[in-house]
Amino acid sequence: MADRKPFVGGNWKMNTNRSSASDLCRGVADALLRVDTADIAVFPPFPYLLLVRSILRDRGSSIRLGAQDVYSRPDGAYTGEVSVEMLKDCGVEVVICGHSERRHVLGEKDDLVNQKLRAVLEGGLWGILCVGERLEEREAGHTDVVVQRQMKNGLTDIAGQHLARLIVAYEPVWAIGTGKNATPQDVVEVHTKIRGLLTGLFGAENAARVRIIYGGSVKPDNAGPLFAPPEVDGGLIGGASLVAGDFAAVVRATTRKH
Ligand code: PEP
Repeated sequence: MADRKPFVGGNWKMNTNRSSASDLCRGVADALLRVDTADIAVFPPFPYLLLVRSILRDRGSSIRLGAQDVYSRPDGAYTGEVSVEMLKDCGVEVVICGHSERRHVLGEKDDLVNQKLRAVLEGGLWGILCVGERLEEREAGHTDVVVQRQMKNGLTDIAGQHLARLIVAYEPVWAIGTGKNATPQDVVEVHTKIRGLLTGLFGAENAARVRIIYGGSVKPDNAGPLFAPPEVDGGLIGGASLVAGDFAAVVRATTRKH
């Protein structure tokens, strides 16, 4: 099996202010200063990107700066949007594409997610493609169909050479921010299918480079069992990433994998 370094991202969503973002960033950087067994990223709101970058640099932290979203076009009359180059200019290294809140609250469709992901990967950044079914889709037995559609559409025209910078986050919508999480068996089942889809699309060698992570109510007390299977390469963390000690504990739960 390919040696994939775990990845753990802390998605702060539309939380924090200038002061609490600084405190949280300092807390996370200090708690994880000597951890190099996982790639770690934090995703603050756009207005705090430069602030967080400067704290991470001052602390000598290897934590990567992430952005929660991006627009696919390089520049122009797109009020309210930001481009890949703008994010790079702010020190961003990794971008989330197609988070379920953007899909289901803000109405993003697969083709827009695909355009964003292509811009991110072609721009040399790491891209996280989020996929996952809603509760009614799971209950109707449609998990595989939904995930397959989001994967195929999301990865249209992505070149195999970019796959080492692709991360797929399986995030069942019913588990995000709800306190309900999928069982490790549920996660392994879907991750195995995702790996199979990647292999079908890009060949085994390219597919083996992609990290497949889980997101959905991961906390310090359930991270161990969720991250233990070899099919799980880490996690995308929402609520627990807002408490430095909890986020650090979740990251440490990946330690034994590497
Ligand atoms: C997320 O935002 O991607 C997420 C998984 O959130 P939470 O951990 O709060 O469920």
